[in-house]
Amino acid sequence: MNDQGLLLVISGPSGCGKDTIISRVLERIGDEGFLSVSMTTRERRGNEVDGVHYYFVSQEEFQKGIEEDRMLEYARYGKNFYGTPVGPVRDLMRAGKTVILNIEVTGGKNVRRLMPDAVEVFVIPPSIAELERRLTGRGTETPEAIRRRMEIAKKELRHACEYDYIVVNDALEDAVDDVLAIIRASKLKTEKSTQKICEVMDYAES
Ligand code: 5GP
Repeated sequence: MNDQGLLLVISGPSGCGKDTIISRVLERIGDEGFLSVSMTTRERRGNEVDGVHYYFVSQEEFQKGIEEDRMLEYARYGKNFYGTPVGPVRDLMRAGKTVILNIEVTGGKNVRRLMPDAVEVFVIPPSIAELERRLTGRGTETPEAIRRRMEIAKKELRHACEYDYIVVNDALEDAVDDVLAIIRASKLKTEKSTQKICEVMDYAES
């Protein structure tokens, strides 16, 4: 995949505030950034809009997407499947945009293998007790689903060390600034700047 743009993976346990951090980051970077809309077999929650938060699909449709090679990556999380449609990511990367993937740790691992230039950020809560409080406070899940998500969260936290950067979401605005700093620094990496270097060299030599 042509990598003129920046592929930014954001993972972290459910309830750690990833979604809020991502929407604030997107507000700040404007047209430069896009969030990849995933496909999922999970049920739509009350305020979610099909095609905006997710593409809500049946198991059969999801399977078809895999068979037709339309997924950059996919994983099972709890009882459901989630996957990243490859087409929009490829197009936005070619256009030089920053593309954010909000995905769990198996997806993060697969992206690391497929696209070594991707920059991966893991968001952690200030504590496990705070994570449970946030998940319960959200009021969108049954106690059983919360228990399952807490179990997954503890397992996911063990993968934090595999990521390039760790952002602690204690004060939201600080976490947003941290992700913006990571984006800025990643875009200044030498391999993203070869074209700029050539332009300056051409000018110097003409
Ligand atoms: P939720 O059900 O809370 O929306 O998402 C559950 C988990 O699935 C979250 O950790 C979220 O980051 C992850 N997820 C969402 N979309 C994808 C995807 O396309 N691929 C993978 N691997 N994980 C995803």
